Amino acid sequence: MIDSSTNLYALIGNPVSGSKSPWIHNHIFETCHLPGAYLAFDIEKDQLSQAVVGMKALNVKGINVTIPYKTEIMTFLDEVDPLAEKLGAVNTIVCKDGKWKGFNTDGLGLIAVLKRHIADFEEKKVLVLGAGGAARGICGILAESKIAEMGIWNRTPERAIQLSEALNLSKSENGHFDITPVSSVKAFINYDVVINTTSVGMAPDIEQTPVEITSLNPDAIVCDIVYKPHKTKLISEALSNGHNVIYGIEMLLEQALLAQKLWNGLTDEVISKNRNELMTEFEALNK
Ligand code: NAP
Repeated sequence: MIDSSTNLYALIGNPVSGSKSPWIHNHIFETCHLPGAYLAFDIEKDQLSQAVVGMKALNVKGINVTIPYKTEIMTFLDEVDPLAEKLGAVNTIVCKDGKWKGFNTDGLGLIAVLKRHIADFEEKKVLVLGAGGAARGICGILAESKIAEMGIWNRTPERAIQLSEALNLSKSENGHFDITPVSSVKAFINYDVVINTTSVGMAPDIEQTPVEITSLNPDAIVCDIVYKPHKTKLISEALSNGHNVIYGIEMLLEQALLAQKLWNGLTDEVISKNRNELMTEFEALNK
């Protein structure tokens, strides 16, 4: 119930229409009996600083940031978590005692999903398709994870190379993997896990797919971070060809659950219960 003690949480970006975040967070507030309400705000580019002043004055408790403000918002923060600093992007802000601290739960969310689905994840060779904003967060975390190898393929190969350089990937001292900007689709067959981070297949262009499914290793696990539609063409073709698949909604849920952990210290048990409820509801709505 919303009353005078309800705390405001917000998503800021442009556009935010169609975002699933209000649905996820308001479900959590309701089922966990937390005094919170989550609203999404479209902010015009020249209004970002005024929006920040307004949110501080209104004592907003937690903020999610989406495109195009994940980097620009960092100039307004009192503190930035080292991982978000390294990625150069913030998607979650904890507002406490008048101070704003920024985090990035996007890539961490996906890695948590991958580790849950893939028992021996650290032994896998992982191919990332795409080199945009989402790929940046995911590759940055993968580089810090113990995996056998990581390859990055992008339609515009120079951007894959730029991404490796920006994240200092080729200079990694981890030693557990090689960063390979994959230039040839022939190399796709070498990978155990393939993650689509491109926007290919996203509504309304639902008949598109970023790769020929037959170019992948038949045993590869196929993960698509696109979640509109739930079953993308890539996921459909992967299922038809006998691949195990991971849906985009799982990453979306996980990054939100991690944000709630930061805001409200939810226990793993509560997180797990909410994950299951939200997944069931999403699947029922997207049959
Ligand atoms: P972005 O920064 O605009 O990057 C888009 C990427 O897609 C680039 O690598 C681009 O390649 C590639 N691309 C676009 N059109 C293509 C085409 N026709 N053929 C091949 N490659 C193409 O976007 P983003 O923020 O990374 O988001 C990408 C997708 O991830 C979106 O669908 C978004 O909704 C989804 N996403 C999901 C989650 C989640 O939680 N599940 C989180 C974040 C994002 P070029 O460099 O060659 O242009």
